[in-house]
Amino acid sequence: MHLVDTHCHLDFPELQKDFDEVLARAHSAGVKKFINPGVGIEESRKAVQLSSEHENIFAAVGIHPHEADSVDEKILAELEVLAQNSKVVAIGEIGLDFFKLRNSKEIQIAAFEKQLGLAQKLDLPLIVHAREADAEIFKILDKFPSLRGVLHCFGGDWSFAEKVLERGFFIGLTGIVTFPNAKNVREVAQKIPLEKLLIETDAPFLAPQKFRGQRCEPAFVVEVAEEVARLRGIEISEIAEKTTKNAEELFRI
Ligand SMILES: [Zn+2]
Repeated sequence: MHLVDTHCHLDFPELQKDFDEVLARAHSAGVKKFINPGVGIEESRKAVQLSSEHENIFAAVGIHPHEADSVDEKILAELEVLAQNSKVVAIGEIGLDFFKLRNSKEIQIAAFEKQLGLAQKLDLPLIVHAREADAEIFKILDKFPSLRGVLHCFGGDWSFAEKVLERGFFIGLTGIVTFPNAKNVREVAQKIPLEKLLIETDAPFLAPQKFRGQRCEPAFVVEVAEEVARLRGIEISEIAEKTTKNAEELFRI
């Protein structure tokens, strides 16, 4: 079995102590490729560095909405340089978070738009974080009609999923799909066309039900694949095959 963890923060401090074991466990579990998105400029640098040290780790660079106020011309220029590294496969994670609202909506929107401009200029796909910003996210994405990507850590309902799919985006499911009370996300896992599905852990966050409360690591992406397979009544091998193909096509890895 061959899986891709399309969203894991391998550069985060939580995963450093036993980093080699984390990668070894992932490998044993069938995870053959990793995508490490940046959340700030420092993390984006680290993600690129890690990708240069490990053949199967790929990076995305971008500034998360929580750090949107750091986005200025200097940061954008550095992101552009970083993004030209051959191991950088996307701009992300970028987007809007009106739930935590650590920056004002205006600041988040401005940072998002600037980074969308960068993705357009460099012809890179997007890794989008959207929380409680369902309408606004499309209003902004519609200004960049050529851009595609993934709506990562999907937490919405089927009607929102349909809008995401209509826009030609992929949907990234995390361990949330294993939570018994996540009915909406479980419904999306049943209905989504497999050619639009990606799987991810968002490690070190969001450990699946079986490990809930613990640190999350890429090996746990198997739990996501298994649960989606169970919900659809198909073999995990089919989920692995399709989601890996999707990840390899979207991110050209
Ligand atoms: Zn993330």
